[in-house]
Amino acid sequence: MNPYEMVVVLSAPACRRCVRRFSRLLADISGVAALRFDAPSDMVRIYGSACGHELAAALPRGAVRSYARRRRGSTGLALAAPLSPECHSE
Ligand SMILES: [Zn+2]
Repeated sequence: MNPYEMVVVLSAPACRRCVRRFSRLLADISGVAALRFDAPSDMVRIYGSACGHELAAALPRGAVRSYARRRRGSTGLALAAPLSPECHSE
């Protein structure tokens, strides 16, 4: 099993509608085996082989604050630059 997970940190906690929408968008990316939103729904863990920039690019502009690859079970995050705090950005 891949010992790493991708963590995508959202700019704001996603509402239930966006959790469903974002889940669909992420699940469509090749290499995504499973994903899970962490309460309060502002962090998504993605298992599989997809890369972070592909995952971030699949979500609406401004929805992603940062992403990082990390060892499973680790709590440390190496985060990139923040973007605007909107969960609905259509
Ligand atoms: Zn929303």
